[in-house]
Amino acid sequence: MDEDMARRFSALPSVEKLLRCESLEPLQDAHGRTAVLDAIRTALSQARAAIRVGDWKVEDTDAYLRARCEASLEARSQPALKPIFNLTGTVLHTNLGRAPLPDSAVRALVAAAGACNVEYDLATGERGRRESHIEELLVALTGAQAATVVNNNAAAVVLALNTLAVDRETIVSRGELVEIGGAFRIPDIMAISGSRLVEVGTTNRAHARDYRNAINADTALVMRVHTSNYEIRGFTKSVPEKVLAELAHAQDLPLLLDLGSGSLIDLAQYGLPHEPTPAESLTAGADIVTFSGDKLLGGPQAGLIVGRKALIERLNRNPLKRALRVDKLTMAALGAVLKLYGRPEHLIRELPGLRLLARSADEIKALAFKMLPIARQALPASWEVSIESCDSQVGSGSLPVDRLPSWRLSIASTRADKHEGDGLEDMARAFRYLPVPIIGRIQNGALKLDLRCLEDEPLFIEQLSALRRAGG
Ligand SMILES: *Cc1c(COP(=O)(O)O)cnc(C)c1O
Repeated sequence: MDEDMARRFSALPSVEKLLRCESLEPLQDAHGRTAVLDAIRTALSQARAAIRVGDWKVEDTDAYLRARCEASLEARSQPALKPIFNLTGTVLHTNLGRAPLPDSAVRALVAAAGACNVEYDLATGERGRRESHIEELLVALTGAQAATVVNNNAAAVVLALNTLAVDRETIVSRGELVEIGGAFRIPDIMAISGSRLVEVGTTNRAHARDYRNAINADTALVMRVHTSNYEIRGFTKSVPEKVLAELAHAQDLPLLLDLGSGSLIDLAQYGLPHEPTPAESLTAGADIVTFSGDKLLGGPQAGLIVGRKALIERLNRNPLKRALRVDKLTMAALGAVLKLYGRPEHLIRELPGLRLLARSADEIKALAFKMLPIARQALPASWEVSIESCDSQVGSGSLPVDRLPSWRLSIASTRADKHEGDGLEDMARAFRYLPVPIIGRIQNGALKLDLRCLEDEPLFIEQLSALRRAGG
């Protein structure tokens, strides 16, 4: 070790000294002694590592370490989940929280955060049912005999399969053995539910006789899965729901339908492509229909189950139901969202998911023109901002082939010296590190910000200013 290095090591203060210093001592009250100690030890060990490799140029060691500790304690005390701007162009982005909740749902879940009547009947003063808060609404909106709810649609499918077909056979068309977002795959879900999968038909075609031939004494269930995230085109055939229901009922078997997203209303009235509704499936004869709460429905994560009363009661009695139950916050938010559907004329204004999906390209274009000069001003001169038309997508496997015309900002480096890297990744990171992170998509050498989901303009402009202050 040379003399210089030795001097630097000996200049490092002790843990005790830092712990008792004027700026860190009071922080023990806010963050706890352990957290402060942790921050100090981390800062010191990073300093030692830097000194060891000769990468330490700090003059005032004490002040520097104090500042490091303060910054890391501040970062630690931030909630882990933060609001972000989803400008990826995928509206219902699973990694970014899917559907944004309407204000009424946010108020409802805040109201339920403390003690609340989640399983308590205020009229009788006795124990109530958790589902009672949403069952009537779901029944009214879908025309089902009964309804229940679990943690997500994957859980709804597992519960239905386990209740209706454990140790017995479930028939599914080969063309419907979907994988959704990696972890949800029909064959795996079937296995974990304890039901035996019987595949019928081929990838592109299934006939009614394929189903009929597969039914035997061990069959418990006929299942249809809405192929929500892909489309099979060309020489294809699938059995209409109505025929499938008749065929199952002729053998006293129920028809289970995993609808995936499922919309409670006809989206065509908002200029969006039609997505099958639970009401349509029930009318066609399905006995149980499951769908997600946080896809096109626009609510919190939940698995909604509607259908025949006797079957829903069996699902509710399955001990698995207890393990998959939703919490009071979800119940509160879901109830509020379902209530919005009772006033469909206000839906487009009050339900953010629908509002964003139905937003017109003209409106987004005007917004892009408005943001263009602001973005230009916020970025260093070596960056060029332009606007271009693009397509947003619905996301979460809903309406996979349909694109929604939109507009975006495109941010690219003007530096000719591309072999040094154009700094695009760093720029994207700078956007992600903003107080309210802005998440875009890198494509064709540019950072693309699809403005479809940009609603809070002042907050967005504030982030751009923060970007400028940070030096881009
Ligand atoms: C999205 C989807 C699921 C999974 O729903 P989650 O609510 O995400 O659990 C299951 N089946 C289909 C057809 C889907 O589209």
